[in-house]
Amino acid sequence: MSTIRIPNPAPCDGGRLDDPTPARALPGGSPPASGSKAGSEQVGDSPVGSPLAGDSSAGSERAGDSFAGVSVSGSTRVGSLPADSADLKDSDASLHDRFGRRMDYLRLSVTDRCNLRCTYCMPREGIDCVDRSEVLTWEEMYALCRLLTDCGLRKIRLTGGEPLVRSGVVGFLARLRDLPGPPERLLTTNATLLDQHLDGLTEAGVTRINVSLDSLRRDGYRSLTGRDLLEAAWRGIDAAADRGFSIKLNVVVITGVNAGEIADFVALTKDRDWTVRFIEAMPFDGLGGNPGDLLDGESILERIRDKFPIVRAEQEPMAVEETYRVPGYPGRIGLIRGHTRTFCGRCSRLRINAVGQMRTCLYAEPSLDLRELLRAGTPAEEIRRRIIEAVRDRHWDGWAAQEATEGRDACSMSRIGG
Ligand code: SAM
Ligand code: SF4
Ligand code: SF4
Repeated sequence: MSTIRIPNPAPCDGGRLDDPTPARALPGGSPPASGSKAGSEQVGDSPVGSPLAGDSSAGSERAGDSFAGVSVSGSTRVGSLPADSADLKDSDASLHDRFGRRMDYLRLSVTDRCNLRCTYCMPREGIDCVDRSEVLTWEEMYALCRLLTDCGLRKIRLTGGEPLVRSGVVGFLARLRDLPGPPERLLTTNATLLDQHLDGLTEAGVTRINVSLDSLRRDGYRSLTGRDLLEAAWRGIDAAADRGFSIKLNVVVITGVNAGEIADFVALTKDRDWTVRFIEAMPFDGLGGNPGDLLDGESILERIRDKFPIVRAEQEPMAVEETYRVPGYPGRIGLIRGHTRTFCGRCSRLRINAVGQMRTCLYAEPSLDLRELLRAGTPAEEIRRRIIEAVRDRHWDGWAAQEATEGRDACSMSRIGG
């Protein structure tokens, strides 16, 4: 794999953060065992074959890697979902909205924390991270994934914040393999910590990774992210590609910042079979506005066409991006019109953020507080009913969702779960 030249990269420490969630038991579950690190679930960078990856009952007493609070057999509390998924299945178990769209893709934010500060996503200073006790534990997240899988979930993407700053994330992905199906497991990351997790991700059965990378220039990257970590990110991406992971690069395009690099990004597809996706900036920078002048999809396409004779490429089913390619290049180019919102008709995405708020659209207010339901010991059937109702009542598109949220506080994508 050829490597892009990065001018004089500085060494980086990766900026790893502690896991934000203390060990915690669900109602009706056994308490987390002693021996866990205070305030930290040292889960799952556990290898497959560890208690985490398989039977979570015996010999798995480190809180977090044991999923100690959640038994998947027994009573009907969500903290202890019925062992047989058939218990939860019925003819209308899958999630459909009133317009007939099916929601079978979960984007689960495992943390609101991040080791970068991308200008379009969160403010440089003064962003309050939620208290650790408010973040869903791995057990709670697993219980929700289990419940949704019984409702026909086909894909689970872990996102954030930066998912790899939460310890245990790779073990959690491995654990998701035990779900009925199992659903495909995917990851969106800034890649600065990726290289150290590739073995675990392979073992967890993850094959596709989306990476945010908004500049190929050290100064541009530093100014967009607030950190000098381009080399670390590139090392992670390159290593993942070498290991055979399918790579999609996400590039949020901002006028006067990185719009001048569009052609450089397209050029990456010349000798790499990656998809480079350009994303319209959305108003989720945590400050209440667009983080720069919006460069819309048409303007992005014009800039690409100025330099490359692109043609439409075959569309992935249910993909929210339009796909193009340069004839003769192995890679592909994607365009995500996240601000102009032209693809809502095929949106199948359900979002749960790190504190358990469920959204049926990025632009919508949360429609359910799943953490509250879980911690109140609500029966699984009742939680499922509430989810089915919320999905049914989903807005038609992001414009309708936004209209219904007039006056809401400035939102950060890291908090929503991008
Ligand atoms: N930290 C990981 C990363 O950056 O890939 C995962 C979380 S991030 C919030 C998920 C995706 O949201 C990234 O691709 C990022 O570029 C995108 N994103 C964040 N803020 C955005 C905004 N205001 N407009 C458009 N995309 C945004
Ligand atoms: Fe962090 Fe991802 Fe947001 Fe950038 S886009 S600040 S990497 S969560
Ligand atoms: Fe889905 Fe909302 Fe985005 Fe439209 S704006 S694609 S409905 S998340």
